Amino acid sequence: MKVSIVGAGYVGLVTATCLADAGNHVVAVDIDAEKVRLLSQGCSPIYEPGLQELLNKNLDAQRLRFTTDLAEGVGHGLVIFITVGTPPSHDGSADLSVVESIIRGVAQQMNSAKVVVIKSTVPVGTGVQMSDLMANLTAHPYAVVSNPEFLKEGAALEDFLKPDRIIIGSDDSEAIALMEELYAPFAKTSYAIQVVSRNAAEMVKYSSNAYLATRISFINEIADICAKTDVDIDEVRAGMGADKRIGAHFLYPGVGYGGSCFPKDVQALVQVAKRTGCNPDILQSVNSRNEYQKQLLAHMVLARFGEDLTGKTFAIWGLAFKPNTDDIREAPALQVISILRQAGAELRCYDPKALGNAQAELPDDAGVQFIASPYEAVEGADALLICTEWNEFRTPDFDRIRSALKQMVIFDGRNLYTSKTMRRQRIEYHSIGRPVVIPTTGSIPPTAMYAD
Ligand code: NAD
Repeated sequence: MKVSIVGAGYVGLVTATCLADAGNHVVAVDIDAEKVRLLSQGCSPIYEPGLQELLNKNLDAQRLRFTTDLAEGVGHGLVIFITVGTPPSHDGSADLSVVESIIRGVAQQMNSAKVVVIKSTVPVGTGVQMSDLMANLTAHPYAVVSNPEFLKEGAALEDFLKPDRIIIGSDDSEAIALMEELYAPFAKTSYAIQVVSRNAAEMVKYSSNAYLATRISFINEIADICAKTDVDIDEVRAGMGADKRIGAHFLYPGVGYGGSCFPKDVQALVQVAKRTGCNPDILQSVNSRNEYQKQLLAHMVLARFGEDLTGKTFAIWGLAFKPNTDDIREAPALQVISILRQAGAELRCYDPKALGNAQAELPDDAGVQFIASPYEAVEGADALLICTEWNEFRTPDFDRIRSALKQMVIFDGRNLYTSKTMRRQRIEYHSIGRPVVIPTTGSIPPTAMYAD
């Protein structure tokens, strides 16, 4: 099938490469000429496991090409996906201006029947509105389908290729049939494709993200209570998760959720609720708990080292908002950096993939260094902070950390280590929702005695 994608970012690029890999001929349009240049040369501007290889494979097979020309995309695709950003406006509601301008462009330039698929996350009612808008701008037949995307950054290809569900919001039987045909290679189970109304499709997306964000904020709040009552959240989490009605997934306490989706989608849903006269108490609490949580690790440092951190240096491991991505949008680490810098601390940061993006975000701050090795980053620091649960942090060389740090203190925003391990390692260990581990003696014992 001939497919076009408008917006070659995290969602658009993954959609384009996966659809091309299934044999479709895909043209991806992006307004960013540099991005299009890089992509056309086979360089993925984002890090996502497996994406670089799939991009090259499908460029070589000539099933995928990139352009800045919307008209070329409109002319090519029978199905045109819209995958541009829907960032928050000043009041938190989703800014649909880019989606709307593309809808206008498609309607004005189409010269045959098209199926326009809104994959960007948009509030309930948008698909219907955009369809009405197109009616005034074109005489050609068209259908507007709502098809929200559920991929997770860090596992985006896997999620796209083996989705839990594919939501197709439409009441147009021909458009539905085309979408089913397009998605057939990815719909491994008979119930994977769900055809619903456009409004329901839009609500499925927001409700799913809001629910996942709620689980995170919920367990973070429980972790806070555990921390104040000398209870280990891990024991509570395990006990709760064993209940099949609850389940253990997505119940990990930490430094809060970030990224380009949960924070903005929760806020956008709050605005939809307010606009329709509903009371979004739960959603607002989810958001405010997360704001608190993103600052928590920095406040734990201030409580331990004092409000004035002048002359102190901290190492930070993990800048991306989650592992296996280079995305730092709304990353908790950025808030931690900001608070510690305001208190006068110097920072030595390491991340396996997000150093470039973080450096671009904080270009002029000489007090924040970006270091390409985790062990070099801890060199001379007063403590180590962990903000992202990259696999390579899970079993570090504690001897190297010990010899590099000035004080053997770790603030772990992702609960990567057990208290038992930290006790054995004689490390002062602050984590989320678990009692602080204070080394039993001031002197550090020979590590051989404590080796596993
Ligand atoms: P992104 O910022 O990574 O990508 C958007 C792309 O659109 C950019 O490459 C940008 O240059 C391009 N663009 C902007 N204006 C354009 C225009 N007028 N014409 C052509 N291209 C244009 O965004 P993203 O993270 O891929 O998210 C896109 C949408 O998908 C959002 O609504 C988001 O909420 C939703 N979503 C994102 C994820 C995720 O994990 N990132 C998951 C599910 C859904």
